Amino acid sequence: MDEFSFIRSIAPKVHRQSGLIKGIGDDTAVFRQPYQDIVTAVDTFVEGVHFTRKTMAPYHVGYRVLAANISDIAAMGGTPAFYMISIVIPEGWSEEDLASIYKGMDDLASLYHIDLIGGDTVSGKELSISVTIIGYVEQNKVRYRSHAREKDIVFATGTLGDASAGLDLLTNADSGRGLPEEARNYFIHRHRMPSPRVSFAKALHAAERVALNDISDGIANEAAEIAEASNVSLHLYDEQIPVHQSFKRFNREQQRKWKLFGGEDFELLGTIPERDWPIVLSAANKAMIPVAKIGVVTTPSSGAGNVVLHEGNRHTILDKAGYTHLK
Ligand code: ADP
Ligand code: MG
Repeated sequence: MDEFSFIRSIAPKVHRQSGLIKGIGDDTAVFRQPYQDIVTAVDTFVEGVHFTRKTMAPYHVGYRVLAANISDIAAMGGTPAFYMISIVIPEGWSEEDLASIYKGMDDLASLYHIDLIGGDTVSGKELSISVTIIGYVEQNKVRYRSHAREKDIVFATGTLGDASAGLDLLTNADSGRGLPEEARNYFIHRHRMPSPRVSFAKALHAAERVALNDISDGIANEAAEIAEASNVSLHLYDEQIPVHQSFKRFNREQQRKWKLFGGEDFELLGTIPERDWPIVLSAANKAMIPVAKIGVVTTPSSGAGNVVLHEGNRHTILDKAGYTHLK
């Protein structure tokens, strides 16, 4: 198939966003967004680095790469609207595979009511997909990492470590021995088809100040980014970090590693003044997802922002890379 018929085959027949003026088919896309601020991000997904064909079907590849981008918009408190795809196509990928990738993206795009408005197509050695996402956010409601303040509470949505458990189930034959089929499918689904928390983040609009980060690289890393950007310390209480009921079936070492350092759950980590906790609860209620209070914010402990993990009466300084230093 030549590039033109490929583009024709993946070009959307209908559009969901009223602000769209011109989608695929000219030198650029055109849209109008008169009142809000624009938020935009780009993410690249490379075969062999971010996924393998062993653990994901082409459909999941598309779904998952777009999910990661939508999650970035959620983490800013924004609403996603448009996305663009730059794809490098190697020889081993068939027309059906490519159609499946785009189908995975479109199914997710339909859930979030967003439009594919352009892209670029080239051939190369490895499959690589870059997604550029564009969204909008009400003025003064952008949720920066630098928004955490002393005495805030720290919260996390959903359950953590699920995607890592799913990946382990897919890559280790021995993983999750005795785990019921239903739980196994749940973890694998969380790895392949994450649900970015856009409606939760939007429902926080009543709060004046929220620091937000999406959990793409593990909660330890995301908490450290907030701590650094805000120059505060985040204290996390291990037993309050939310996990799925079947998570306890994995061994303790795996549980600790996955819930603290496992990425790609695409849940949200945030801090908010204590008095606004009811806003967080009602946002979670509205989005029909769990949310948990998992810690507090204090002045920076050793002069600079860091993350302190409390496990029973022991505490550890967590570092971003996933290594911990006993204190
Ligand atoms: P140009 O030469 O102006 O860059 P292209 O031939 O690359 O135009 O693209 C033609 C149209 O198809 C443009 O609207 C572009 O955004 C869109 N497009 C190209 N490749 C893709 C792709 N992989 N996914 C989505 N849209 C694409
Ligand atoms: Mg082009």
